[in-house]
Amino acid sequence: MFERPRGTNDWGPDDMAKRRFVESAFVRTAESFGFREIQTPLFESLDLFAAKSGPGVVEELYAFKDKGGRDLALRPEFTASILRFYVAELRSLPKPVKVYCYGPAFRYEEPQKGRYREFGQVDVEIIGGATLPSDAEVLALAVGTMHAIGLTAIRARIGHIGMLRAYLPFGPADQAKVLHALDKKNFPMLDEELARLQRPELADPLKRLVALHGDASVLDQAKDLLGGKGAEAFDYLRALAAQLAAYGVSPAEYEFDMGVVRGLDYYTGMVFELDSPNLGAEKQVGGGGAYTLAEVFGGEPVFQTGVALGVDRLVLAAEAEGVFGPPQRIDAYVVPIGESTRSRAVEILTALRAAGLRADIDLVGRGPSKNLDYANAAGARYAILVGERELKAEKVGLRNMASGEQREVPVGLLAEEIRKA
Ligand code: AMP
Repeated sequence: MFERPRGTNDWGPDDMAKRRFVESAFVRTAESFGFREIQTPLFESLDLFAAKSGPGVVEELYAFKDKGGRDLALRPEFTASILRFYVAELRSLPKPVKVYCYGPAFRYEEPQKGRYREFGQVDVEIIGGATLPSDAEVLALAVGTMHAIGLTAIRARIGHIGMLRAYLPFGPADQAKVLHALDKKNFPMLDEELARLQRPELADPLKRLVALHGDASVLDQAKDLLGGKGAEAFDYLRALAAQLAAYGVSPAEYEFDMGVVRGLDYYTGMVFELDSPNLGAEKQVGGGGAYTLAEVFGGEPVFQTGVALGVDRLVLAAEAEGVFGPPQRIDAYVVPIGESTRSRAVEILTALRAAGLRADIDLVGRGPSKNLDYANAAGARYAILVGERELKAEKVGLRNMASGEQREVPVGLLAEEIRKA
């Protein structure tokens, strides 16, 4: 017997129905926002991810050498690939470029519920739009996707990295270290870095800052804490809130959270994380923000905003909220009574399928009562009993599996009868 690699999953039919439901809610929403689908490779050159996130990310990657000795890695997310594609080809498209994609991503992490080594993501990017409208559009799309799934417990936490960059009097490399400590809420590390940088007095306001979250009043508190530095960021977040209201995003669905840092170097402005508060430790279902990444990949400076949502966690959130009904069932299960009726039964089956119904037939040669047991277990809405006597009158038996009620129906009206019900 072989075992699955650690951190991977097999998804059975009921699981896949849920995953497809979540993905299709996302695709529907993204399409309705005017995004278009693209696809990039599952693996890329290792350098691409190192360029985006720094060599530290290599620890988290599934990296390998191919037979030609090339250093490659399975994608840990989509943004780097999309930006590579943008710089190479998509930049000739009219701006803003609005694209989406979805599929598996891979990270070498300690597996637990909601945290896997292979997991599903959906992702959108707006490249080359103005910052405020693009940020609002991406946030509205992320919340809209959760609505489309049927989720009601939604909490976006919105911050701004610009205020911290304005406040921290350090060069980019040291700034990155301090931001990393703040991102991880690792205060011993923060103290250590600030001591090294000979600015220990910054520790206290920074710790108080990242603890601030709530409605727009926290923006004033944050402004006071930073002594007027980074004021544009707070004005910006107020303007963003006004835009979100116009999109119909309810104030109950988001808060300002000065602790959302997302420590990666290329984030420049608004940053956000999305939670499904019903979930346990792994309640973060998405994250995103504004950045200028194209430059890192050799393109011209251009604003981008993106978000990635995790499919696995959206499914868990939908399960927690009881969004999913019973698994999707087949509409009709055709039961030939005796081998002499099989050809006619297959013709009836084929007509039902052509009419757009989900229809199946006995492939084992079971007797009628065993077949009804099977139809029941398979969750068929109807069983179609095809007997010689009824066929002489061009009729079949139509049995409602839930009620057990059975009646004769002309073959020509069968699809309509099933659809009507
Ligand atoms: P990130 O790029 O880390 O912000 O991830 C975006 C979203 O992908 C997260 O909010 C999660 O929903 C999902 N995600 C990230 N890593 C994992 C993982 N190891 N397992 C399952 N979902 C993940």
